[in-house]
Amino acid sequence: MNTVYLCLGGNIGNTRAIFKKAIEQIESGIGRCVLKSRLYTTEPWGFEAEQLFLNLVVVVETELEPHAILELCQQTEAELGRTRSGKGYQPRTIDIDILFIDNQIINLPDLKVPHPLLHLRNFVLQPMCDVAPQLVHPLLKKTMAELRDECADEGGCRVV
Ligand code: ADP
Ligand code: MG
Repeated sequence: MNTVYLCLGGNIGNTRAIFKKAIEQIESGIGRCVLKSRLYTTEPWGFEAEQLFLNLVVVVETELEPHAILELCQQTEAELGRTRSGKGYQPRTIDIDILFIDNQIINLPDLKVPHPLLHLRNFVLQPMCDVAPQLVHPLLKKTMAELRDECADEGGCRVV
């Protein structure tokens, strides 16, 4: 059994409802969700957007292999992240990133774990500190609390 940390993000549509459905899909496809962070509202990172982002970290126990986890995440994004409109599909409304799978290190073209940008992002470190402040990043050898305290990200990130 592995513990996987997933970051959910979205800023289009009814994000809370989409997160709820995503967690249901994660529980039926990946495994039991044992812990959830608080919900954060975040200023868009790296680009401008009109609506604030919502972010959430969930901790899931799974027996799936890393690529099967990725596939399930992408399937969930595809199912929930596109809403029918008159003209077909709208842009993606949910992003599900794999942050950690225990202390595994994976460096493949389509799957990098730990997620390579997580230590640069308040909107990941803050919710990670809710669920696992003492978890040590297997490459950076620092805890989530240490990484959050050191993070230079100035994007606002608040509990909703
Ligand atoms: P982003 O998350 O950067 O906004 P996408 O969600 O479109 O972009 O992901 C782009 C690609 O990143 C995916 O096709 C996936 O193969 C790859 N990827 C690599 N590592 C990870 C990871 N840890 N979690 C999720 N996707 C990852
Ligand atoms: Mg992604």
